[in-house]
Amino acid sequence: MDRFDVIVIGAGPAGSSAAYSLAKEGFSVLIIERGKFPGSKNVYGGRIYTYPLKRLFPEDWREAPVERYVVQENISMLSKDTAVTIQYDSLRTGSSRVNSFTAIRSKFDKWLAKRAGEEGAMVISGTRVDDLLVSNGTVFGVRAGGDEVKANVIIAADGVASIFAQKAGIRPELIPKEISVGVKETIKLTKKRIEDRFNVGEKEGVANAYIGQVTNFLRGGGFLYTNEDSVSLGVVVQSEDLSSHRTEIQELMERFKLHPSIQKYIEGGKVVEYSAHMIPELGTCMIPRPFANGFLAVGDAAGFVLSHGYTYQGVDLAILSGMAAAETVKAARAANDYSAGSLSRYLHDLRSFGVLSELEEFGNAPSFLMNPRIYSAYPQLLCGILNRMYTVDGTKKEKMFHIAKEEMKGKISLMQLMKDLLGGTRSM
Ligand SMILES: Cc1cc2nc3c(=O)[nH]c(=O)nc-3n(C[C@H](O)[C@H](O)[C@H](O)COP(=O)(O)OP(=O)(O)OC[C@H]3O[C@@H](n4cnc5c(N)ncnc54)[C@H](O)[C@@H]3O)c2cc1C
Repeated sequence: MDRFDVIVIGAGPAGSSAAYSLAKEGFSVLIIERGKFPGSKNVYGGRIYTYPLKRLFPEDWREAPVERYVVQENISMLSKDTAVTIQYDSLRTGSSRVNSFTAIRSKFDKWLAKRAGEEGAMVISGTRVDDLLVSNGTVFGVRAGGDEVKANVIIAADGVASIFAQKAGIRPELIPKEISVGVKETIKLTKKRIEDRFNVGEKEGVANAYIGQVTNFLRGGGFLYTNEDSVSLGVVVQSEDLSSHRTEIQELMERFKLHPSIQKYIEGGKVVEYSAHMIPELGTCMIPRPFANGFLAVGDAAGFVLSHGYTYQGVDLAILSGMAAAETVKAARAANDYSAGSLSRYLHDLRSFGVLSELEEFGNAPSFLMNPRIYSAYPQLLCGILNRMYTVDGTKKEKMFHIAKEEMKGKISLMQLMKDLLGGTRSM
């Protein structure tokens, strides 16, 4: 076949959700994935929120390949050899209101693409899209594997480095300020070790976030997610900071693994996978108009990732933006108009699926999270205060107020602290 209603580039969560939603409505859909199979090349931390899946598959979202349901969240501020941790125990697996789960992308993406295929989408893996076909400013097809295939709409779901969003003229080249770099290792343990070490039951898991020493106090953090019989461990750092501090992220990762707070979890484990990837950090301002004549961008390709500092929302926004794009294409078909004017309705659909509203609500979060004190002064301050509070060695003990005052000296002023607190509560 050399003509489809819609061609989707990339079978990540954004692409497969768009393809599934369109194929279900009777559109002829071709989805082209460069990896050997959907998910084979895809990297993320480890947790997926359930709410978009419940919307996409209301009857059977639980068929998703879940590793463990997240029942505990921890945020740790690390110094060289101490940690201050806030623990939150969430709902247990028995509850129908489970909020998130851990998953392995090679299984999850494969399952999602299979669902699109079952609805009639044609999924071709192991083929890279090389170029867009463009005439008079309208995108009308793709060049892939030496062939040209045409469609009314091309949906770019090719991830953060989307060359097709650039080719369609809706996004300039990425600059370091806009992205973070993440590395991740999957460390194999056993199911029993996971359950003993993290004190969780069958199918239960934890999501841990770390800041401070993990990045050597650069902007970014670490994460640990429990899978069925492995953990996903990684470090994410602002790209600008890595180059300005001439730091290798792999060195940070090696040091992170040696921190006592991490070592106790991964001891005896075997690294079975290593991967690295970029994350878009600036949300909607990266691509204010994610559409062009005959063209839409979804998921990371459009910059739809929300970072709160303690968690990433990427896969959920990717799924929702895929569903929103499908709504836009449905309306364009009804009007028989695939121009940018007609596809601009995408902004409305993104809003009604909650993608833009979420990103706009937290629009100030990226600039707040650029504050270097969050990653250096505050973790050190907290660890220092608690260290002194809990050290009892026969010497005269100070009152907490004096300890805090002394620890803050030279690191941060009271005024600065108040300003940061206010900024944090306003933007997060
Ligand atoms: C270290 C790290 C940790 C993260 N942690 C989390 C987390 O815990 N939870 C969360 O929700 N999000 C997390 N994210 C973000 C999340 O991974 C992304 O937001 C999400 O994967 C976006 O989905 P997508 O479908 O838009 O893009 P991707 O998942 O990147 O999929 C793009 C697809 O397009 C394919 N492709 C690319 N170019 C071509 C081409 N030329 N031809 C054909 N196919 C092509 C790729 O092979 C891939 O399959 C994390 C990201 C990183 C890097």
